[in-house]
Amino acid sequence: MTPPTAIPVGAPPGQDAVGELAAHVTGAVLTPGDEGFAAEAAGFNLRSRHRPALIVAAESAADVQAAVRFAAAHGMPLGVLATGHQPFPARDGFLLLTTRAMRGVRIDAGRRVARVAAGAVWSDVVGPAQAAGLAPLNGSSPRVGVVGFTLGGGHSPFLGRSVGWAADHVVSIEAVTADGTLHQVTAESDPELFWGLRGGRSNFGVVTALEIELFPLTSFYGGGIYHPAERTEEVLRAFTEVVPGAPDDFTCSVALLNMPPLPEIPEPFRGRALVHLRVAGLGTDEETERLIAPFRAIGPGLVDTVARHPYEAFAAVHADPDQPAPYEERSTLLAELPAEAVERLLECARRGAGGPVTVLELRHFGGALNRTPAHAAPVAAREAAFSLWGATVGPPEAVAAGYDSLSEVMERLSPWSTGRTYTNFTAREDRAEDVFTPAELDRLRALKRLHDPANLFRVNNHTIAPR
Ligand SMILES: Cc1cc2nc3c(=O)[nH]c(=O)nc-3n(C[C@H](O)[C@H](O)[C@H](O)COP(=O)(O)OP(=O)(O)OC[C@H]3O[C@@H](n4cnc5c(N)ncnc54)[C@H](O)[C@@H]3O)c2cc1C
Repeated sequence: MTPPTAIPVGAPPGQDAVGELAAHVTGAVLTPGDEGFAAEAAGFNLRSRHRPALIVAAESAADVQAAVRFAAAHGMPLGVLATGHQPFPARDGFLLLTTRAMRGVRIDAGRRVARVAAGAVWSDVVGPAQAAGLAPLNGSSPRVGVVGFTLGGGHSPFLGRSVGWAADHVVSIEAVTADGTLHQVTAESDPELFWGLRGGRSNFGVVTALEIELFPLTSFYGGGIYHPAERTEEVLRAFTEVVPGAPDDFTCSVALLNMPPLPEIPEPFRGRALVHLRVAGLGTDEETERLIAPFRAIGPGLVDTVARHPYEAFAAVHADPDQPAPYEERSTLLAELPAEAVERLLECARRGAGGPVTVLELRHFGGALNRTPAHAAPVAAREAAFSLWGATVGPPEAVAAGYDSLSEVMERLSPWSTGRTYTNFTAREDRAEDVFTPAELDRLRALKRLHDPANLFRVNNHTIAPR
Protein backbone atom coordinates (compact mmCIF):
# COMPACT_ATOMS: atom_id res chain seq x y z
CA MET A 1 0.00 0.00 0.00
CA THR A 2 1.34 3.44 -0.88
CA PRO A 3 0.34 6.74 0.73
CA PRO A 4 -2.42 8.66 -1.14
CA THR A 5 -1.57 11.43 -3.62
CA ALA A 6 -3.04 14.75 -4.71
CA ILE A 7 -6.74 15.57 -4.41
CA PRO A 8 -7.62 18.62 -6.57
CA VAL A 9 -9.87 21.04 -4.73
CA GLY A 10 -10.10 24.47 -6.31
CA ALA A 11 -9.10 27.18 -8.79
CA PRO A 12 -6.73 30.06 -7.88
CA PRO A 13 -8.24 33.56 -7.32
CA GLY A 14 -7.28 36.49 -9.58
CA GLN A 15 -4.30 38.78 -9.01
CA ASP A 16 -6.42 41.80 -8.05
CA ALA A 17 -8.14 39.87 -5.30
CA VAL A 18 -4.80 38.61 -3.98
CA GLY A 19 -3.41 42.15 -4.06
CA GLU A 20 -6.34 43.40 -2.03
CA LEU A 21 -5.86 40.64 0.54
CA ALA A 22 -2.15 41.56 0.79
CA ALA A 23 -3.13 45.16 1.52
CA HIS A 24 -5.21 44.00 4.48
CA VAL A 25 -2.73 41.71 6.23
CA THR A 26 0.63 42.44 7.87
CA GLY A 27 2.09 38.98 7.13
CA ALA A 28 3.29 37.84 3.71
CA VAL A 29 0.81 36.77 1.02
CA LEU A 30 2.50 34.43 -1.44
CA THR A 31 1.45 32.79 -4.71
CA PRO A 32 3.30 29.98 -6.55
CA GLY A 33 6.47 31.35 -8.10
CA ASP A 34 6.95 34.02 -5.40
CA GLU A 35 10.28 33.96 -3.62
CA GLY A 36 9.86 32.13 -0.30
CA PHE A 37 6.67 30.31 -1.38
CA ALA A 38 8.18 26.79 -1.27
CA ALA A 39 9.95 27.47 2.05
CA GLU A 40 6.75 28.78 3.67
CA ALA A 41 4.77 25.71 2.48
CA ALA A 42 7.42 23.29 3.80
CA GLY A 43 7.23 21.65 7.20
CA PHE A 44 9.13 19.20 9.40
CA ASN A 45 7.95 16.23 7.33
CA LEU A 46 9.69 16.70 3.99
CA ARG A 47 7.30 14.22 2.30
CA SER A 48 4.42 16.67 2.81
CA ARG A 49 4.61 18.66 -0.43
CA HIS A 50 1.61 20.95 -0.23
CA ARG A 51 0.56 22.74 -3.40
CA PRO A 52 -1.61 25.63 -2.19
CA ALA A 53 -2.82 28.30 -4.60
CA LEU A 54 -2.09 30.92 -1.97
CA ILE A 55 -0.22 31.21 1.33
CA VAL A 56 -0.97 33.70 4.08
CA ALA A 57 1.86 33.81 6.64
CA ALA A 58 -0.29 35.18 9.46
CA GLU A 59 1.25 37.49 12.04
CA SER A 60 -1.88 38.23 14.08
CA ALA A 61 -5.46 37.18 14.76
CA ALA A 62 -6.54 39.96 12.35
CA ASP A 63 -4.44 38.35 9.58
CA VAL A 64 -6.13 35.03 10.30
CA GLN A 65 -9.56 36.66 10.08
CA ALA A 66 -8.70 38.28 6.74
CA ALA A 67 -7.41 34.97 5.35
CA VAL A 68 -10.48 33.03 6.48
CA ARG A 69 -12.86 35.62 4.99
CA PHE A 70 -10.90 35.58 1.73
CA ALA A 71 -10.96 31.77 1.52
CA ALA A 72 -14.70 31.71 2.23
CA ALA A 73 -15.43 34.43 -0.35
CA HIS A 74 -13.44 32.59 -3.05
CA GLY A 75 -14.66 29.08 -2.22
CA MET A 76 -11.14 27.95 -1.36
CA PRO A 77 -10.65 25.29 1.31
CA LEU A 78 -8.29 26.43 4.06
CA GLY A 79 -5.53 24.42 5.74
CA VAL A 80 -3.33 25.36 8.72
CA LEU A 81 0.39 24.68 8.97
CA ALA A 82 2.34 25.33 12.16
CA THR A 83 5.47 23.12 12.18
CA GLY A 84 4.37 20.44 9.70
CA HIS A 85 4.99 17.49 12.04
CA GLN A 86 1.69 15.85 11.10
CA PRO A 87 1.15 14.61 7.55
CA PHE A 88 -2.03 15.31 5.61
CA PRO A 89 -2.80 14.23 2.05
CA ALA A 90 -1.26 16.41 -0.68
CA ARG A 91 -3.79 18.95 -2.01
CA ASP A 92 -3.99 21.50 -4.79
CA GLY A 93 -5.66 24.87 -4.96
CA PHE A 94 -6.26 25.64 -1.29
CA LEU A 95 -5.33 28.56 0.95
CA LEU A 96 -2.54 27.59 3.31
CA LEU A 97 -2.43 29.62 6.48
CA THR A 98 0.92 29.39 8.24
CA THR A 99 1.34 30.37 11.88
CA ARG A 100 5.11 30.19 12.37
CA ALA A 101 5.34 33.97 12.88
CA MET A 102 2.94 33.82 15.86
CA ARG A 103 5.20 32.51 18.65
CA GLY A 104 4.23 34.66 21.66
CA VAL A 105 4.00 32.99 25.11
CA ARG A 106 2.84 34.65 28.35
CA ILE A 107 3.00 32.91 31.73
CA ASP A 108 0.49 33.76 34.45
CA ALA A 109 2.18 32.09 37.44
CA GLY A 110 -0.62 33.05 39.83
CA ARG A 111 -3.29 31.26 37.78
CA ARG A 112 -0.81 28.55 36.65
CA VAL A 113 -1.76 29.23 33.05
CA ALA A 114 0.21 29.91 29.86
CA ARG A 115 -1.24 31.92 26.97
CA VAL A 116 0.33 30.48 23.84
CA ALA A 117 0.01 31.95 20.34
CA ALA A 118 -0.86 29.70 17.37
CA GLY A 119 2.67 29.07 16.13
CA ALA A 120 4.50 28.48 19.44
CA VAL A 121 6.38 25.19 19.91
CA TRP A 122 6.99 23.42 23.22
CA SER A 123 10.50 24.83 23.67
CA ASP A 124 8.92 28.33 23.58
CA VAL A 125 6.76 27.42 26.60
CA VAL A 126 8.89 25.15 28.79
CA GLY A 127 11.68 27.68 29.52
CA PRO A 128 9.41 30.57 30.62
CA ALA A 129 7.14 28.17 32.57
CA GLN A 130 10.17 26.71 34.38
CA ALA A 131 11.23 30.19 35.45
CA ALA A 132 7.99 30.14 37.50
CA GLY A 133 8.58 26.54 38.73
CA LEU A 134 5.86 25.21 36.42
CA ALA A 135 5.64 22.74 33.53
CA PRO A 136 3.11 22.31 30.71
CA LEU A 137 1.69 19.02 29.42
CA ASN A 138 4.28 18.94 26.64
CA GLY A 139 5.13 15.92 24.52
CA SER A 140 8.46 14.26 23.88
CA SER A 141 9.76 16.77 21.31
CA PRO A 142 10.50 20.47 21.94
CA ARG A 143 9.88 21.24 18.24
CA VAL A 144 6.25 20.10 18.06
CA GLY A 145 3.60 22.87 17.92
CA VAL A 146 1.57 23.46 21.09
CA VAL A 147 -1.77 24.06 19.33
CA GLY A 148 -1.68 21.07 16.92
CA PHE A 149 -0.46 18.80 19.76
CA THR A 150 -3.04 19.96 22.30
CA LEU A 151 -6.03 19.97 19.96
CA GLY A 152 -5.11 16.43 18.86
CA GLY A 153 -5.35 15.14 22.45
CA GLY A 154 -1.78 15.72 23.62
CA HIS A 155 0.01 12.84 25.31
CA SER A 156 2.68 14.01 27.73
CA PRO A 157 5.21 11.24 28.56
CA PHE A 158 5.92 13.15 31.79
CA LEU A 159 2.70 14.41 33.39
CA GLY A 160 0.10 12.62 31.23
CA ARG A 161 -0.47 9.62 33.49
CA SER A 162 -0.73 11.91 36.54
CA VAL A 163 -3.10 14.56 35.19
CA GLY A 164 -4.47 13.35 31.82
CA TRP A 165 -4.66 14.56 28.23
CA ALA A 166 -3.48 18.07 27.35
CA ALA A 167 -6.82 18.69 25.61
CA ASP A 168 -8.59 18.19 28.95
CA HIS A 169 -6.44 20.95 30.48
CA VAL A 170 -7.20 23.80 28.09
CA VAL A 171 -8.57 26.87 29.88
CA SER A 172 -9.70 28.93 26.90
CA ILE A 173 -9.38 29.00 23.13
CA GLU A 174 -9.18 32.02 20.83
CA ALA A 175 -10.37 30.90 17.40
CA VAL A 176 -11.55 32.29 14.07
CA THR A 177 -14.53 30.37 12.71
CA ALA A 178 -15.57 30.00 9.05
CA ASP A 179 -17.48 33.32 9.03
CA GLY A 180 -14.29 35.17 10.01
CA THR A 181 -15.42 35.92 13.58
CA LEU A 182 -12.84 35.84 16.37
CA HIS A 183 -14.24 33.98 19.40
CA GLN A 184 -12.97 33.61 22.96
CA VAL A 185 -14.23 30.12 23.73
CA THR A 186 -14.43 28.59 27.22
CA ALA A 187 -16.36 25.73 28.81
CA GLU A 188 -18.82 28.36 30.03
CA SER A 189 -19.11 30.65 26.98
CA ASP A 190 -19.72 27.94 24.34
CA PRO A 191 -19.45 24.44 25.86
CA GLU A 192 -20.07 22.62 22.57
CA LEU A 193 -17.50 24.51 20.46
CA PHE A 194 -15.03 24.31 23.36
CA TRP A 195 -15.55 20.55 23.40
CA GLY A 196 -15.27 20.11 19.62
CA LEU A 197 -12.18 22.25 19.06
CA ARG A 198 -10.22 20.15 21.58
CA GLY A 199 -10.03 17.11 19.28
CA GLY A 200 -11.53 18.41 16.05
CA ARG A 201 -8.51 20.70 15.60
CA SER A 202 -8.70 22.72 12.36
CA ASN A 203 -12.13 21.29 11.45
CA PHE A 204 -13.95 24.12 13.25
CA GLY A 205 -11.68 27.10 12.82
CA VAL A 206 -8.18 28.48 13.10
CA VAL A 207 -6.98 28.76 16.67
CA THR A 208 -5.05 31.98 17.19
CA ALA A 209 -4.14 31.35 20.85
CA LEU A 210 -4.71 28.86 23.66
CA GLU A 211 -4.65 29.21 27.41
CA ILE A 212 -3.30 25.99 28.91
CA GLU A 213 -2.85 24.80 32.48
CA LEU A 214 0.62 24.51 34.04
CA PHE A 215 1.71 22.20 36.87
CA PRO A 216 4.35 22.56 39.60
CA LEU A 217 7.33 20.48 38.42
CA THR A 218 10.98 21.43 38.01
CA SER A 219 12.77 18.11 37.57
CA PHE A 220 12.26 14.41 36.91
CA TYR A 221 14.22 11.22 37.44
CA GLY A 222 14.53 9.46 34.10
CA GLY A 223 16.19 9.24 30.72
CA GLY A 224 16.87 6.61 28.09
CA ILE A 225 18.52 3.19 28.27
CA TYR A 226 19.75 1.79 24.94
CA HIS A 227 20.52 -1.87 24.31
CA PRO A 228 21.47 -3.70 21.12
CA ALA A 229 18.42 -5.19 19.31
CA GLU A 230 19.54 -8.69 20.39
CA ARG A 231 18.20 -7.81 23.86
CA THR A 232 14.71 -6.85 22.64
CA GLU A 233 13.05 -9.91 24.16
CA GLU A 234 14.51 -9.22 27.63
CA VAL A 235 13.56 -5.54 27.35
CA LEU A 236 9.98 -6.20 26.26
CA ARG A 237 9.50 -8.78 29.01
CA ALA A 238 10.85 -6.35 31.62
CA PHE A 239 8.53 -3.66 30.22
CA THR A 240 5.48 -5.90 30.68
CA GLU A 241 6.65 -6.62 34.24
CA VAL A 242 7.09 -2.95 35.16
CA VAL A 243 3.98 -1.47 33.56
CA PRO A 244 1.03 -3.17 35.36
CA GLY A 245 1.79 -1.96 38.90
CA ALA A 246 3.33 1.38 37.96
CA PRO A 247 2.05 4.43 39.87
CA ASP A 248 0.54 7.32 37.90
CA ASP A 249 3.63 9.48 38.37
CA PHE A 250 5.84 7.02 36.49
CA THR A 251 5.83 6.70 32.67
CA CYS A 252 7.77 4.36 30.44
CA SER A 253 7.82 3.39 26.79
CA VAL A 254 9.99 1.26 24.56
CA ALA A 255 11.16 1.92 21.01
CA LEU A 256 12.76 -0.43 18.49
CA LEU A 257 15.16 1.60 16.39
CA ASN A 258 16.94 0.99 13.09
CA MET A 259 19.44 3.80 13.05
CA PRO A 260 20.60 4.82 9.56
CA PRO A 261 24.34 4.62 8.77
CA LEU A 262 24.64 8.40 8.43
CA PRO A 263 27.79 10.29 9.46
CA GLU A 264 25.76 12.75 11.59
CA ILE A 265 24.53 9.89 13.81
CA PRO A 266 27.03 9.39 16.65
CA GLU A 267 28.56 6.12 17.79
CA PRO A 268 27.43 3.73 19.24
CA PHE A 269 24.09 4.35 17.45
CA ARG A 270 25.18 4.75 13.81
CA GLY A 271 23.82 2.02 11.52
CA ARG A 272 22.68 -0.19 14.43
CA ALA A 273 19.45 -1.90 15.38
CA LEU A 274 18.69 -0.89 18.98
CA VAL A 275 16.03 -1.11 21.63
CA HIS A 276 15.45 2.09 23.61
CA LEU A 277 13.72 2.21 27.00
CA ARG A 278 12.37 5.62 28.00
CA VAL A 279 11.64 6.41 31.63
CA ALA A 280 10.24 9.46 33.45
CA GLY A 281 9.58 9.26 37.19
CA LEU A 282 8.12 12.19 39.12
CA GLY A 283 8.68 10.53 42.52
CA THR A 284 12.00 10.31 44.35
CA ASP A 285 15.13 8.87 42.74
CA GLU A 286 14.85 5.80 44.99
CA GLU A 287 11.18 5.19 44.12
CA THR A 288 11.90 5.35 40.39
CA GLU A 289 14.98 3.11 40.74
CA ARG A 290 12.82 0.55 42.57
CA LEU A 291 10.27 0.65 39.74
CA ILE A 292 12.89 0.15 37.04
CA ALA A 293 14.67 -2.72 38.85
CA PRO A 294 13.60 -5.18 36.06
CA PHE A 295 15.23 -2.82 33.51
CA ARG A 296 18.44 -2.70 35.57
CA ALA A 297 18.42 -6.52 35.84
CA ILE A 298 18.94 -6.74 32.05
CA GLY A 299 22.45 -5.41 32.59
CA PRO A 300 24.17 -2.18 31.59
CA GLY A 301 22.95 -0.46 28.42
CA LEU A 302 25.15 0.78 25.60
CA VAL A 303 24.10 4.24 26.76
CA ASP A 304 22.15 5.03 29.93
CA THR A 305 21.04 8.58 30.74
CA VAL A 306 18.69 7.76 33.64
CA ALA A 307 19.42 10.28 36.40
CA ARG A 308 17.80 13.35 37.98
CA HIS A 309 17.44 16.06 35.33
CA PRO A 310 16.04 19.59 35.33
CA TYR A 311 12.66 19.56 33.57
CA GLU A 312 14.12 21.64 30.73
CA ALA A 313 16.14 18.54 29.71
CA PHE A 314 12.91 16.63 28.91
CA ALA A 315 13.86 16.14 25.23
CA ALA A 316 16.70 13.78 26.21
CA VAL A 317 14.25 11.05 27.30
CA HIS A 318 12.88 10.20 23.84
CA ALA A 319 15.70 11.93 21.92
CA ASP A 320 13.40 12.58 18.94
CA PRO A 321 15.10 13.77 15.73
CA ASP A 322 15.29 17.55 15.56
CA GLN A 323 16.01 17.98 11.86
CA PRO A 324 13.30 17.88 9.16
CA ALA A 325 13.17 14.55 7.30
CA PRO A 326 10.93 12.68 4.83
CA TYR A 327 8.78 10.13 6.69
CA GLU A 328 5.46 8.29 6.89
CA GLU A 329 3.85 7.02 10.06
CA ARG A 330 1.31 4.37 11.04
CA SER A 331 -0.24 3.62 14.39
CA THR A 332 -2.92 1.84 16.33
CA LEU A 333 -4.24 1.90 19.89
CA LEU A 334 -4.09 -1.27 21.96
CA ALA A 335 -6.74 -2.08 24.57
CA GLU A 336 -4.37 -4.55 26.27
CA LEU A 337 -1.02 -6.27 25.83
CA PRO A 338 -1.40 -9.92 26.78
CA ALA A 339 1.43 -12.48 26.41
CA GLU A 340 0.28 -13.45 22.90
CA ALA A 341 0.46 -9.82 21.75
CA VAL A 342 4.00 -9.55 23.16
CA GLU A 343 4.95 -12.70 21.18
CA ARG A 344 3.57 -11.12 17.99
CA LEU A 345 5.49 -7.95 18.68
CA LEU A 346 8.67 -9.97 19.23
CA GLU A 347 8.19 -11.76 15.91
CA CYS A 348 7.79 -8.37 14.22
CA ALA A 349 10.90 -7.09 16.03
CA ARG A 350 12.99 -10.09 14.91
CA ARG A 351 11.93 -9.64 11.30
CA GLY A 352 12.22 -5.86 11.44
CA ALA A 353 15.75 -5.55 12.87
CA GLY A 354 17.90 -3.87 10.24
CA GLY A 355 14.82 -3.27 8.04
CA PRO A 356 13.19 -0.10 6.67
CA VAL A 357 11.05 0.75 9.74
CA THR A 358 13.08 3.44 11.50
CA VAL A 359 11.19 3.42 14.79
CA LEU A 360 8.45 1.27 16.29
CA GLU A 361 7.31 2.64 19.63
CA LEU A 362 5.08 1.24 22.37
CA ARG A 363 3.83 3.88 24.83
CA HIS A 364 2.09 2.96 28.07
CA PHE A 365 -1.02 5.07 28.76
CA GLY A 366 -3.21 4.25 31.81
CA GLY A 367 -3.57 6.40 34.93
CA ALA A 368 -5.36 9.71 34.32
CA LEU A 369 -5.11 9.10 30.55
CA ASN A 370 -7.84 6.47 30.94
CA ARG A 371 -10.10 8.65 33.07
CA THR A 372 -12.89 10.95 31.83
CA PRO A 373 -12.93 14.26 33.71
CA ALA A 374 -15.75 16.82 33.67
CA HIS A 375 -15.56 18.78 30.38
CA ALA A 376 -13.57 15.92 28.78
CA ALA A 377 -12.37 16.55 25.22
CA PRO A 378 -13.18 14.10 22.39
CA VAL A 379 -10.05 11.97 22.80
CA ALA A 380 -10.97 8.38 21.92
CA ALA A 381 -7.42 7.32 22.86
CA ARG A 382 -8.52 7.48 26.50
CA GLU A 383 -10.02 3.99 26.04
CA ALA A 384 -6.57 2.52 25.16
CA ALA A 385 -3.93 1.05 27.46
CA PHE A 386 -1.06 1.40 24.97
CA SER A 387 -0.20 3.24 21.78
CA LEU A 388 1.75 1.44 19.05
CA TRP A 389 3.27 3.91 16.58
CA GLY A 390 5.92 3.59 13.93
CA ALA A 391 7.68 5.73 11.37
CA THR A 392 9.78 5.04 8.32
CA VAL A 393 12.27 7.71 7.27
CA GLY A 394 14.32 8.05 4.12
CA PRO A 395 14.19 8.08 0.32
CA PRO A 396 10.92 7.08 -1.44
CA GLU A 397 11.77 3.40 -2.02
CA ALA A 398 12.80 2.88 1.61
CA VAL A 399 9.69 4.69 2.87
CA ALA A 400 7.42 2.60 0.60
CA ALA A 401 8.97 -0.62 1.96
CA GLY A 402 8.84 0.68 5.53
CA TYR A 403 5.22 1.70 5.14
CA ASP A 404 4.30 -1.85 4.01
CA SER A 405 6.20 -3.32 6.98
CA LEU A 406 4.46 -0.93 9.39
CA SER A 407 1.06 -1.79 7.92
CA GLU A 408 1.87 -5.47 8.47
CA VAL A 409 2.86 -4.85 12.12
CA MET A 410 -0.41 -2.96 12.76
CA GLU A 411 -2.34 -5.76 11.08
CA ARG A 412 -0.63 -8.44 13.21
CA LEU A 413 -1.44 -6.57 16.42
CA SER A 414 -5.01 -5.80 15.32
CA PRO A 415 -6.64 -8.47 17.54
CA TRP A 416 -5.75 -6.26 20.53
CA SER A 417 -6.48 -2.90 18.90
CA THR A 418 -9.33 -0.67 20.05
CA GLY A 419 -10.00 -0.29 16.31
CA ARG A 420 -8.96 3.34 16.39
CA THR A 421 -5.84 5.48 16.03
CA TYR A 422 -4.72 8.36 18.22
CA THR A 423 -5.33 11.72 16.50
CA ASN A 424 -1.76 12.94 16.99
CA PHE A 425 -0.31 9.74 15.54
CA THR A 426 -2.57 9.39 12.51
CA ALA A 427 -1.20 8.28 9.17
CA ARG A 428 -1.77 10.37 6.07
CA GLU A 429 -4.77 8.30 4.98
CA ASP A 430 -6.49 7.99 8.39
CA ARG A 431 -10.00 9.44 8.51
CA ALA A 432 -12.26 10.90 11.19
CA GLU A 433 -13.93 7.46 11.48
CA ASP A 434 -10.54 6.01 12.55
CA VAL A 435 -10.00 8.62 15.23
CA PHE A 436 -13.31 9.24 17.03
CA THR A 437 -15.91 6.97 18.58
CA PRO A 438 -19.18 6.86 16.56
CA ALA A 439 -20.92 8.93 19.27
CA GLU A 440 -18.14 11.56 19.23
CA LEU A 441 -18.18 11.74 15.44
CA ASP A 442 -21.93 12.16 15.32
CA ARG A 443 -21.75 15.05 17.78
CA LEU A 444 -18.76 16.58 15.96
CA ARG A 445 -20.64 16.45 12.63
CA ALA A 446 -23.60 18.28 14.15
CA LEU A 447 -21.21 20.94 15.47
CA LYS A 448 -19.52 21.18 12.08
CA ARG A 449 -22.86 21.84 10.43
CA LEU A 450 -23.42 24.71 12.84
CA HIS A 451 -19.99 26.36 12.48
CA ASP A 452 -18.74 25.32 9.03
CA PRO A 453 -21.65 24.07 6.90
CA ALA A 454 -19.71 24.70 3.64
CA ASN A 455 -16.78 22.64 4.98
CA LEU A 456 -14.22 25.43 4.45
CA PHE A 457 -11.86 23.74 6.92
CA ARG A 458 -11.39 20.44 5.10
CA VAL A 459 -7.65 20.42 4.48
CA ASN A 460 -6.54 18.01 7.19
CA ASN A 461 -6.24 14.28 7.58
CA HIS A 462 -9.34 13.65 9.65
CA THR A 463 -11.89 15.87 7.99
CA ILE A 464 -15.25 15.97 9.76
CA ALA A 465 -17.96 16.35 7.12
CA PRO A 466 -21.00 18.38 8.24
CA ARG A 467 -23.99 16.23 9.09
C1 LIG B 1 9.11 13.66 16.65
C2 LIG B 1 7.66 13.72 17.07
C3 LIG B 1 7.34 13.60 18.43
C4 LIG B 1 6.00 13.65 18.84
N1 LIG B 1 5.69 13.48 20.17
C5 LIG B 1 4.39 13.49 20.56
C6 LIG B 1 4.04 13.26 21.93
O1 LIG B 1 4.88 13.06 22.80
N2 LIG B 1 2.72 13.28 22.25
C7 LIG B 1 1.74 13.53 21.32
O2 LIG B 1 0.56 13.57 21.68
N3 LIG B 1 2.06 13.76 20.02
C8 LIG B 1 3.35 13.73 19.62
N4 LIG B 1 3.66 13.92 18.30
C9 LIG B 1 2.59 14.17 17.34
C10 LIG B 1 2.27 15.65 17.25
O3 LIG B 1 1.63 16.06 18.44
C11 LIG B 1 1.34 15.90 16.06
O4 LIG B 1 2.04 15.61 14.88
C12 LIG B 1 0.82 17.33 16.05
O5 LIG B 1 -0.26 17.41 15.16
C13 LIG B 1 1.89 18.29 15.60
O6 LIG B 1 1.38 19.61 15.62
P1 LIG B 1 2.20 20.73 14.86
O7 LIG B 1 1.47 21.99 15.00
O8 LIG B 1 3.60 20.66 15.30
O9 LIG B 1 2.16 20.19 13.35
P2 LIG B 1 1.38 20.68 12.06
O10 LIG B 1 1.59 19.58 11.07
O11 LIG B 1 1.80 22.02 11.64
O12 LIG B 1 -0.13 20.73 12.51
C14 LIG B 1 -0.85 19.55 12.68
C15 LIG B 1 -2.33 19.82 12.50
O13 LIG B 1 -2.78 20.58 13.60
C16 LIG B 1 -3.77 21.47 13.19
N5 LIG B 1 -3.37 22.82 13.58
C17 LIG B 1 -2.13 23.33 13.73
N6 LIG B 1 -2.20 24.62 14.11
C18 LIG B 1 -3.52 24.92 14.19
C19 LIG B 1 -4.24 26.09 14.53
N7 LIG B 1 -3.62 27.23 14.87
N8 LIG B 1 -5.59 26.05 14.50
C20 LIG B 1 -6.25 24.92 14.17
N9 LIG B 1 -5.61 23.77 13.84
C21 LIG B 1 -4.26 23.79 13.85
C22 LIG B 1 -3.93 21.33 11.70
O14 LIG B 1 -5.00 20.45 11.45
C23 LIG B 1 -2.67 20.66 11.28
O15 LIG B 1 -2.85 19.84 10.14
C24 LIG B 1 4.98 13.85 17.87
C25 LIG B 1 5.31 13.97 16.51
C26 LIG B 1 6.63 13.89 16.11
C27 LIG B 1 6.95 13.98 14.63
